[in-house]
Amino acid sequence: MSAMTTPAFSPTIQKNPNARSDDERAAILADPGFGNHFTDHMFLAEWTPDAGWHDPRVVPYGPLLLDPATAVLHYAQEIFEGLKAYAHADGSVWLFRPEANAERLQRSARRLALPELPVEWFTGSVRALIEADREWVPTGGERSLYLRPFMFASEVFLGVRPSQHVTYSVIASPAGAYFPGGVKPVDIWLSSEYSRAGAGGTGAAKCGGNYAASLLPQQEAAENGCAQVAFLDSVEHRWVEELGGMNLYFVQSDGTIVTPALSGSILEGITRDSILTLARDLGHDVVERRVSIDEWRDGVADGTITEVFACGTAAVVTPVGHLKWRGGEIDSAPDGEPGKVTSEIRSALVDIQYGRAEDRHGWMTRAV
Ligand SMILES: *Cc1c(COP(=O)(O)O)cnc(C)c1O
Repeated sequence: MSAMTTPAFSPTIQKNPNARSDDERAAILADPGFGNHFTDHMFLAEWTPDAGWHDPRVVPYGPLLLDPATAVLHYAQEIFEGLKAYAHADGSVWLFRPEANAERLQRSARRLALPELPVEWFTGSVRALIEADREWVPTGGERSLYLRPFMFASEVFLGVRPSQHVTYSVIASPAGAYFPGGVKPVDIWLSSEYSRAGAGGTGAAKCGGNYAASLLPQQEAAENGCAQVAFLDSVEHRWVEELGGMNLYFVQSDGTIVTPALSGSILEGITRDSILTLARDLGHDVVERRVSIDEWRDGVADGTITEVFACGTAAVVTPVGHLKWRGGEIDSAPDGEPGKVTSEIRSALVDIQYGRAEDRHGWMTRAV
C-alpha cells in the first residue's frame, strides 16, 4: 500500500523574493531575544491516508490560511519539537541529537493519533530549512538558531476523530543567549492545586495542550514572583514531576545526582537524557527514582540537597533558587549563583554543542 512506504525525501525549494536585506538581518541578529523573529523561509509537508507524507517544500515564511473549521483549532490535535542549530568557530552549523527529537515526535504522534513522520523526513526538513536560511544562524556566545518543527490536524471537519489531513511544518527563530548577563538562579512556584498532566494522559507527549494547561498555574507563579512552576503527580500530589517545560535534577551532599524517574506523565527531555550520561562521565552517581516534595523541601532545609537545577533545550541548564509555595519557601542557591555541579554539567553540555569539547557520544550532526 502506498501509504505504508516511505517516499524519498526531496523537497522543492521556493526562494523568498522578499527576503530581508543583509542590513535588516544584521539588525535582528544583533539582539534576537527568543521567539520574536523568524527567518525568511519555512518548511511544509502534507499527509493524507491515501498519499501518506507528500509535497515536502521550503517556501517563503508567511501566514497559514486556515479554514475556521480546521480541526486543530477545535480539538488541539497538535504536537511539536524544539531543537537548536549551533554555529561552530569554523563556520560550520551543527545539530545536537536531532534523531532523538525525530523519535520523540513519532512517540508524540502515536499518543495524539497523528501519523508518524519518518526520521529522515524530520532531519531532512530541519537541514533543508537551515540550508535555505543559513545566514540566519547567529554566531558567537551562546547564540543559536532555534528550530520549531510542529504537526497539526489540518482537515476541515468538526467531527471528533483523528484528522484525515495533517500538516507538518518547521519554522526557525534566531535566539540570543538565554542568560546574557551570566547564568542566574530562577525562582519556582509549587503548584498545589493544578497538575500539568495526569496518569494515562498526554504528559509524555510534547503537545500544545499540555502547555495550555500550564498557563494558569504559570500566571499564579508570576503573581508570586516566580518564573516557573513545579508540578507534582496528579494522583497523590506528592511526587515531583517537572516544570512546565523543563525537567528537574537534584544534587545531594553525598555527590549523588537524582532526577525524577519517568512516570508516564513526565516529558522525556533530551537534555535530561544527555545529562544522565554526562554526569556519569564526570564521575557522579546518577539515579532515576521518585522524589517527593517533602524530600525536596526537607533536603534543601537540612543540607542533604545542595543544588537543584532545571534542564531543557532553550535554557540548557538553569539553577533553581527559591522554591515557593503558599505559606513558605526554601532557597537552594542562597548566594545567588549557580552551584558547582550545576555549572560543571552546564559547561560540559554547551562545550559539546558549540564544538569546544570532544563529542565522545556521537551526539553532534553537521547540518551545513
Ligand atoms: C520540551 C520539554 C522539556 C525539555 O525537553 P528537551 O528535549 O530537553 O528540550 C521538558 N519538559 C517539557 C514539558 C517539555 O515540553
